[in-house]
Amino acid sequence: MTNKIYMDNAATTPLKREVLDAMMPYLTEEYGNASSIYATGRDAKRALDEARQTVADALGAKVNEIYFTSCGSEADNWAIQGVAYANKNRGRHIISSQIEHHAVLHTLQYLEKQGFEVTYLPVDEYGLVRPDDLKDAIRPDTILITIMYANNEIGTIEPIDELAQIAREHKIPFHTDAVQAVGHMPINVKELGVDLLSLSAHKLYGPKGVGALYIKNGVKLDNFLHGGAQERGRRAGTENVAGIVGLAKAIELATADIDENMARLTALRDKLISGMQAKIPYCRLNGHPAKRLCNNVNFSFEFIEGESLLLMLDMKGVAASSGSACTSGSLDPSHVLLAIGLKHEIAHGSLRLSIGDFTTEEDIDYVLEVLGPIVQRLRDMSPLYEEVERGVKHV
Ligand code: PLP
Repeated sequence: MTNKIYMDNAATTPLKREVLDAMMPYLTEEYGNASSIYATGRDAKRALDEARQTVADALGAKVNEIYFTSCGSEADNWAIQGVAYANKNRGRHIISSQIEHHAVLHTLQYLEKQGFEVTYLPVDEYGLVRPDDLKDAIRPDTILITIMYANNEIGTIEPIDELAQIAREHKIPFHTDAVQAVGHMPINVKELGVDLLSLSAHKLYGPKGVGALYIKNGVKLDNFLHGGAQERGRRAGTENVAGIVGLAKAIELATADIDENMARLTALRDKLISGMQAKIPYCRLNGHPAKRLCNNVNFSFEFIEGESLLLMLDMKGVAASSGSACTSGSLDPSHVLLAIGLKHEIAHGSLRLSIGDFTTEEDIDYVLEVLGPIVQRLRDMSPLYEEVERGVKHV
């Protein structure tokens, strides 16, 4: 059974028909291994070369600066571990932020166990890293700075150009996890001044299981996957030709009409935000009001559990995501919501609605219509809310 209304595009996006059409030949007749020298292999190699050029053009990179990976997580792992190990004789200090995705945080925690030291920069109430905090954290032994471009939970867009400039002044490689940003805002790696950038196809209407890492020419990093000589000897593994062709088609489509698309999504996002603020008391918008992804809405509701909200929305045909990690087997509230200063109980009552290219105005109206009564029903079951209603407790 599929949900009538899909508002979890930050988790994954549906594959676009044009992307599937571009991939199909490489899943059927064009099955060659791109390393083979005969015609079928050469065809696959040509498809890879074209895809690499398309991705490079979309990011303003050179073609030999794009490396395909199996997902965004691998790109993050490679960038971070690769730079850390290649520079370990120069120093063992890394700087990141408290609100990174687990693909970055858990990689850093792994490196801490290997003797590296990590400073996790705090963020302000909107989730923004302060450039002065970065300046203060830099040490003579800092070998890498990794800060995400846009947060996957609250949608806040970090001042990456400013942060990368600071890194450059200190000659420290700068990596950004741009998995949520690519395809949703214009990105030019040269203007941004980053050394490494991760992306993933399934967040921009491409297939799952394929990503890419931009590595600026001259950046020193160790290989992560060892084996064959694919990706110019830097990332082993027979290439996922169909997936890579799909990634290229998806990024080409996303960048072709990016301004128009962003304007449409921003209008829908803001309609959803203002509608929720008008209809639902005791709620709070998480993330920056303006410096946020055009597809992200994140609210905390007092006196309710995000998980119950998700289940009730699901019963109404709406797919969304909560601010806690309960669905992944942990009862801890989201580290991102805690980092922006939310109390545990408020962080537990959070909801992320991430809209996408297939979201319509009617979808927004429907969600606004069903959400208020669901929140009210859940609050009616809450003893705390009852006290507030009776005036015994104040918020
Ligand atoms: N980084 C961010 C910010 C993400 O949102 C995600 C996916 O949710 C990832 C990394 C991991 O990407 P993938 O699912 O392709 O491994």
